[in-house]
Amino acid sequence: MSKTHRPFQRGKGMLVVISGFSGSGKGTLMRGLMQNYDYYSLSISATTRKPRNGEEDGKDYFFTDKEHFLKMIQNGELLEYARYVDNYYGTPKAYVEQELAKGKDVILEIEMQGALKIKAKFPDSVLIFITPPSVEELISRLRGRGTETEEVIRARMEKAAMEAEGVEAYDYILVNDDLDRTVKHLNYLIQDQHMRVRSQIPFLEQIRGELRANYARMNELN
Ligand code: 5GP
Repeated sequence: MSKTHRPFQRGKGMLVVISGFSGSGKGTLMRGLMQNYDYYSLSISATTRKPRNGEEDGKDYFFTDKEHFLKMIQNGELLEYARYVDNYYGTPKAYVEQELAKGKDVILEIEMQGALKIKAKFPDSVLIFITPPSVEELISRLRGRGTETEEVIRARMEKAAMEAEGVEAYDYILVNDDLDRTVKHLNYLIQDQHMRVRSQIPFLEQIRGELRANYARMNELN
């Protein structure tokens, strides 16, 4: 399948934070976004959580132990990190900086504490919260995964109830009811951010400079 290119590209890429309840379908949405458009890069997080069935090191996560994770924090290698249901998760800084410099929009699929840290450090980042259409659907997706014990499911539902209280800190809520439609919607939402005036300052400066030069040239001719 060929990927869609961005019609125009000016300057650096944008930092996009995607959060959502465990079971909201974020992971599948991210895959859809990466498969359909060539201007996104997905950050791969480091975690101390054990791999689930089918998960690969370096693809889904960089799986590591607590000691190494703490060293990454000490060395300033993480853009943000958080503890979530007894494990650490963090965003490696180098990849994000490299992809932004290339003009890619970098997606961080992270939980709420991390999202808030990113917004504080990078006010121009955009924060999007994904929810399933209902709690019933959320529980059935978590059970359907078949990879979690009832205890973990209970912990994740408790966490979801806490996270539901913090969603006001986000810029957008997106209901994931239909995968294809939500992927398209998510893409429009992100690409619209590039049209905000404050995202277009270098372009605006260029236009202003050209207008001034043109005006001066016309005056010289008269
Ligand atoms: P899971 O164990 O289901 O893969 O992820 C648990 C939670 O950790 C999810 O909400 C996921 O978005 C979040 N998460 C994954 N990577 C990171 C990260 O690098 N930083 C933060 N703060 N959260 C993350």
